[in-house]
Amino acid sequence: MLLSDLLQAQSNPRKAGRGWLSTCPSHDDRKSSLSFRIVEPAKAIFNCFAGCDNADIIKALGLEFPDLFDVEIDIDNAPITSSAGAKPPTAGMIETLTRYCTEAAEAFHGSPAESYVERFGMTPAQGASLGLGYTDGSLKCTYLSDRQFSVPRLIVPFPGFDGKIRCLQGRSLDDDIDAELQGWISPSTVEGGYRWSNIGLFTHETEQADLLICEGPGDGLTSYAAGTDCLFIRGAKFASNPEALAVVEAVTLGRRVFLAGDVDPSGQAFNADLAAHLLSL
Ligand SMILES: [Zn+2]
Repeated sequence: MLLSDLLQAQSNPRKAGRGWLSTCPSHDDRKSSLSFRIVEPAKAIFNCFAGCDNADIIKALGLEFPDLFDVEIDIDNAPITSSAGAKPPTAGMIETLTRYCTEAAEAFHGSPAESYVERFGMTPAQGASLGLGYTDGSLKCTYLSDRQFSVPRLIVPFPGFDGKIRCLQGRSLDDDIDAELQGWISPSTVEGGYRWSNIGLFTHETEQADLLICEGPGDGLTSYAAGTDCLFIRGAKFASNPEALAVVEAVTLGRRVFLAGDVDPSGQAFNADLAAHLLSL
């Protein structure tokens, strides 16, 4: 199928970075949640940030799966993304993580984790509105190793563009344990070929003009506590991550952006890469 025909099938697609954004036909969409891009060599990829099933999207667009392969690029300077790599978490995986976060959040009020987040300048109410959680180490989940989560932790859910939790991290509240168990620990995937999201979006209820982009959940908590919306991207190699790029393109649209990579060489490369990408949009 021609690229121009695939674009024609969408409702007013507008170019955003290395792809296009349009209204998702599969749900009541007011946000341009449908991301569309061509991945090397010629495969079309649709992704609804609200989590619509791909089969439903394809059908609602009046397309069929074979239309997504061997796309003929008939538009000048069409952006093409390099290969997608590991798959995002399934709906079942997201549900399992969400259930874990909900249970941990129920234990947050009055817990050691609630006092711990004061070091980020955060009030208990702000922590609760982000859905932060506490576990004494006994809360179990398929994707968390017993050893890693055997100690008391602050649980930080990573909400995406649509508010769905596609990753979480736990930070040990105890400074006197093995280095391996300290710091931020992520769940492992038991099924191969999947990757948890490496991005989190902390937004206030009122719409804000400013957005800070930083590297990890600690800076994200500090930014949110100070009243600024924040997108954090773990691992500075975001440039090779189409999912992270798609979210960056969607959330930075029309906003003033502050790049706040760490003060080290990889943090500075993070700022430079992101700036170059945003300026190319
Ligand atoms: Zn949708």
